[in-house]
Amino acid sequence: MTLKELQDLILAQAKEKDWGIKPEEIIFAEKLALLHQEVSETLEAYRKGKMTGEHGVGEELGDVIMRTLQLAGIYNIDLEAEILKKIESNKSRDWSKDQLYIDRDNRAKN
Ligand SMILES: [Mg+2]
Repeated sequence: MTLKELQDLILAQAKEKDWGIKPEEIIFAEKLALLHQEVSETLEAYRKGKMTGEHGVGEELGDVIMRTLQLAGIYNIDLEAEILKKIESNKSRDWSKDQLYIDRDNRAKN
């Protein structure tokens, strides 16, 4: 199954459940907050040492992907293409010059 096929399934369920499948049917910030909630639930599961099963890290990461695919689908964003572009871009990116690492290195010195 491709990411697009998975997205189509998620949007079909979103339509059936009336969760919104068009921009005018949702509040973007709310959908983003709900996505973030799933990220937080993933952290909580991890902190409890629950990697599998109900409310485990696996299920919560699945929720993150589902909410991401729903949101992207609502805006006709081709996530497969976006991810492939990022993988390609990462090939030539030099993290040693990244500000994040410079800051981290400076903190380590202090
Ligand atoms: Mg969840």
